[in-house]
Amino acid sequence: EMMTKESIKKRVVDEQVEFIRVTFTDVFGTIKNVEVPASQLDRVLNNDLMFDGSSIEGFVRINESDMYLYPDLSTFMIFPWATDEHGGKVARLIADVYNADRTPFEGDPRIALKEAVKKAEDRGFTEFNVGTEPEFFLFKLDEQGKPTMELNDHGSYFDLAPLDRGEDVRREIVLTLEKMGFEVEAAHHEVAAGQHEVDFKYADALDAADKIQTFKLVVKTIARKNGYYATFMPKPVAGINGSGMHVNMSLFDQTGNAFAGDEKNQMALSDTALHFLGGLLKHAPAITAIANPTVNSYKRLTPGFEAPVYVAWSTSNRSPMVRVPVARGLATRLELRTVDPTTNPYTCLAAILSAGLDGMDQGLEPSASVDKNIYLMDENERKKAGIRDLPDTLLDALEELEQDPVIIDAIGTHITDKFIEAKKIEYTSYRQYVSKWEVDNYFMNY
Ligand code: GLU
Ligand code: MG
Ligand code: MG
Repeated sequence: EMMTKESIKKRVVDEQVEFIRVTFTDVFGTIKNVEVPASQLDRVLNNDLMFDGSSIEGFVRINESDMYLYPDLSTFMIFPWATDEHGGKVARLIADVYNADRTPFEGDPRIALKEAVKKAEDRGFTEFNVGTEPEFFLFKLDEQGKPTMELNDHGSYFDLAPLDRGEDVRREIVLTLEKMGFEVEAAHHEVAAGQHEVDFKYADALDAADKIQTFKLVVKTIARKNGYYATFMPKPVAGINGSGMHVNMSLFDQTGNAFAGDEKNQMALSDTALHFLGGLLKHAPAITAIANPTVNSYKRLTPGFEAPVYVAWSTSNRSPMVRVPVARGLATRLELRTVDPTTNPYTCLAAILSAGLDGMDQGLEPSASVDKNIYLMDENERKKAGIRDLPDTLLDALEELEQDPVIIDAIGTHITDKFIEAKKIEYTSYRQYVSKWEVDNYFMNY
C-alpha cells in the first residue's frame, strides 16, 4: 500500500511503536542510523531530523557538519523482532541525506543511485530491475557470545539436514524476511561448509539496494539469536569457496523487457542488451573497485572457486564474469558474477547501470562469448580470445577506477575521492602486515 505521513503515524500509534530508526548508508556501505523515540515522529516526517555528518567517515568536514535526514516514506517498516528487554517495537525509515541548506548531499550513495536511475529514465527506460544472490557464512558463537572461526556445519551444495545444521536458522531468516515484505524465491546451503544463500525477488534498483541493506541486518540479527555469527566477508576461510553476491539485471521500458531480443539476433538478446553488455565489459576493471572493495575480496576472485577471474561473458559456462542465464522473453537478463557482499549496493548499482548506459550511448559491441571453461585455457589462448584479467588486488582496481571517468561520474567525485583515499590507506595497512603464509614460506628458506 502507499505510505503517507498519516498512515505511518497511525501505524506507530496502533502498534505501539516506541522508537523510530532513521537509517542511511555511508560511502563504504555501512548502515548508520539515528534513533529517536516515537514522540519525535513528526520531526522525522517533516524532514527536520538532524545529525552530525562529521562523525560519519567519508561524509563532511567539521565546519559543515549539520545534515538533515529526508525519510523515504515507502521504506517504513516495523521490525518483526523485539528490540529491547520489555519487547517494545522499533520501526525504521530509510532516508536520503541533505545538506544544512536543504540541498541533496553529493556524498550520499543512495542519491547517487537515484541520479543514475534518472539517466536511464531520461533515455525512456522505466525500470532497472535487479535481483541479487547474496551468500554468507554461519560461524559458531562461544559461551561469551563472541564469534569463533568454527563453521556451523560440514554441509555442501543443496544438502539436507542433519548435515545442514543451518537449516533452522535459514528458515527463520526466510520467515522474518517474508514478514518484512520480501518475496523469497530460494534459500539453500551453498557449496562450502557453513555457507548459505538466500535469493529474493528482483526489484527496481533503488528498492533492490535498500533490500540488500535490510537483508544483511536480518541475517545478522537472526543468526545471533540462534547462537551463530553471520559474515558477508568474501573469503573467510582459505581453500574453500568464498561468498559472492551475483547481480542479475534487466532494463524495462513501456513495452516490456528491453533486453529481450529477436530469436534471429545473437543469442536472442536485443541490441540494447548487447550494448549494455559491451559497456559492462569495458568498464569492468573500474567497477571491480566498487563491487569488490576490500583486500579480502581479491582472495575470492581466484581460479578454482566458482568466482570470476577474467573479463568475459558466456551463455553456457559459469566461469566468466557475465553469464546470460537461459531464461528468455520477460526474464531475459545479464548476471554479473564479480560482485561480493561487501560492496555498497547503491554505488555498485549506480556504476553498473552507468556502464551499461555508456555502452548504449557509444554503441559498444561485446567481445565474442566464451563458451568453454576459461580456467582450462592457457594465457595464450585467453589472449587470442581477447580475454582480459580482472584487477587482482584492491590497489589495481582503485587505479582502474581513477582512470574511468564514466564510473567516477556515476558515483560522483565526492564519493570517489573519499572512497579512494580511505581504500588506499586500507591497502597500505594490509601491505604492512606480515602474514602466516609469508612466515611459513620464507622464514626457513632465507
Ligand atoms: N560462491 C561462488 C562465488 O564466489 C558462487 C557460487 C554460485 O555459482 O552460486 O561467487
Ligand atoms: Mg550461489
Ligand atoms: Mg548465480
